[in-house]
Amino acid sequence: MSDASRIRTAIDLGLEGKQVGNLIVPHSRQSSAWGSLMIPIAVIARGRGPTVLVTGGNHGDEYEGQVAVAELIRTLEPGQVSGRVIAIPALNAPAARAGTRLSPIDGGNLNRSFPGRPDGTITSMIAHYVDTTLLPVADVILDLHSGGSSLEFVPSGLAHRLDDPEHQRRTIAALEAFGAPVSVIVDEIDPGSGMMDTAAEEKGKVFLSTELGGGGRLGLEALRVAEDGIRNVLAHAGVIEAAPTPGPRPPGRMLTVDDPERYLAARAEGVYRPLLELGAAVEAGQPVAEIVFIDEPTRLPQVIRSGHDGMLWCRRAMARVEPGDVVAVIAGEG
Ligand code: CA
Repeated sequence: MSDASRIRTAIDLGLEGKQVGNLIVPHSRQSSAWGSLMIPIAVIARGRGPTVLVTGGNHGDEYEGQVAVAELIRTLEPGQVSGRVIAIPALNAPAARAGTRLSPIDGGNLNRSFPGRPDGTITSMIAHYVDTTLLPVADVILDLHSGGSSLEFVPSGLAHRLDDPEHQRRTIAALEAFGAPVSVIVDEIDPGSGMMDTAAEEKGKVFLSTELGGGGRLGLEALRVAEDGIRNVLAHAGVIEAAPTPGPRPPGRMLTVDDPERYLAARAEGVYRPLLELGAAVEAGQPVAEIVFIDEPTRLPQVIRSGHDGMLWCRRAMARVEPGDVVAVIAGEG
């Protein structure tokens, strides 16, 4: 088996100027025998300097990143750039077109498909292309996520706890530069699951993600955080000049999710009733949600309590739950 990607493009990553085109993924199917799947991509480059890869739509039902990256492609010109910006508004383009987390073609979860395979499913082929062609040439990667259909978040920048102190320092500097009102350092609940995050971090890259809004909506404030954050990270990397700011930005809050017990899950099927607004302060032992049993109206609701002090950083957006569905994440103070 060849390890070469089957994904083609007319974009030349080595050229200066502004190129807007497509990644072309072979996709022979009932309605298109010799068909391909097109994933829009732009490269905006001038002179020497670092490369920043900015991606949205890794999950198709997360919209702030898709809109902010499309806006970046429309507005950023090579004359403003020292180095290179590679921008992809919808990395899992079929999922984005369907408005779903997973690919409607193969059911693939792109952010659980890394490092991917050149001979795999469509989703696996996209992961493999990103892993072998884009991540290696990027110095900084910003992959913009939101809560999707099932979750909603306090709009936040996100990075992971890393083993190497120097790698961690560079990553936190970029996270602070992103400048969201809230930044969160996360220990992933399932780090071996094939995330793009891990693939980039294992290559020693500065990798940032976000959690911006959710509930299947495009949030106005969350979009502003995304658009400002992209520009802030490009300036931090030295790829664009920093925008003149009207004054010092208030320092953002730095929070951590360092314990699987900060993820609170339903233990029964029913209707999830939130007891607190997103962003609320939470004390250990405090009820944050109930599961209500509509078919058994006399049964007491199941109370879900936080095991920690912190902030209600994330809560479920969909009301119906099954056992194991995360209904709240409590982030702790730095
Ligand atoms: Ca996501």
